[in-house]
Amino acid sequence: MVDIAPFQVRLRTPIDTAHGPIESRRGFLVAVEHEGETGVGEATPLGGWTESYTECEEALNRAQTVARHLDWGIALARTNAPAARHGLSLAFSVARARSEDAPLYRSLGRDERVERVPVNGTVGANGSPDVTATAATELVGAGHDCLKLKVGTNGVETDLERIRAVRNAVGDGVTLRVDANGAWARSEAERAISGLAALDVAYVEQPLPADNLDGLSALRDHGVGIAVDESLVAHDIETVLEHGAADVVVLKPMVLSGPDVAVETARTARAAGVEPVVSTTIDAVVARTAAVHAAAAIPDVLPCGLATGQFLETDLAPDPAPVENGSVRVPQTAGLGVDQSHVL
Ligand SMILES: [Mg+2]
Repeated sequence: MVDIAPFQVRLRTPIDTAHGPIESRRGFLVAVEHEGETGVGEATPLGGWTESYTECEEALNRAQTVARHLDWGIALARTNAPAARHGLSLAFSVARARSEDAPLYRSLGRDERVERVPVNGTVGANGSPDVTATAATELVGAGHDCLKLKVGTNGVETDLERIRAVRNAVGDGVTLRVDANGAWARSEAERAISGLAALDVAYVEQPLPADNLDGLSALRDHGVGIAVDESLVAHDIETVLEHGAADVVVLKPMVLSGPDVAVETARTARAAGVEPVVSTTIDAVVARTAAVHAAAAIPDVLPCGLATGQFLETDLAPDPAPVENGSVRVPQTAGLGVDQSHVL
């Protein structure tokens, strides 16, 4: 049995995407039954990152029909739209974890208890140096020792001033990352990286557009790590690793088609000496909590981009993995930890 229910949650402030600003996140809750347990998953497509809302709905409807006539395992195997597959796969994984009486992260292959996952605080791209430094200082005051600063909308020199103001304000003990979302040309990225190296920035996420894997490779080993995020939309992990395009890979389970695939991708990256970081596509509580479990399934994971519940004005259920002191608490109850009575 596969049940599908549409939902919508409102964002606090619109977020800019390559497909224009969005004010809400729309998706589908997916419920499956497995070994007498019900598991709920979430499929929340995001244009430019996954299939569209309509394509997701069509893929889930097809899966529902296949599940009715055959079984939902076949439906899962035949679904190749990433958000739709994420919803189905998560629902199954949660039902299985519940039947094993284990939290999801244990069911995803981690064999020891994990209490917390470290997360980075995020500062937006548009503030002046003073405003950016103030926002960074507030996050450090709230317990974050790793910050991600969005860049790429103001020109390289302005961004370097902003990062310098942050480094001066927070001191040497705080890890800084920047995310350019593919905004720079090669010459800008080279200028940025030499400036960022002097400010002890750990890594820069997507300094070049997603497809420029050779360009990304050439930017490595200049004092700042290179992370890819958008590159994993168009290219699989093997291609990214073959090109030597990254020191760090940002893994979004919704984009990769499931928390199971995200954990497997993390293992593949690690085996090649590349560090995984788990993040979300600003999903509702079901998928966000699943991303927390995926991160918990990766031993000694670096701070992750999982403090994204704060971007939502409304949500589907109370958050079982709130951010406190720079980390999230990993739910230890059987399954996901989200109260399914709120979402069924
Ligand atoms: Mg990113």
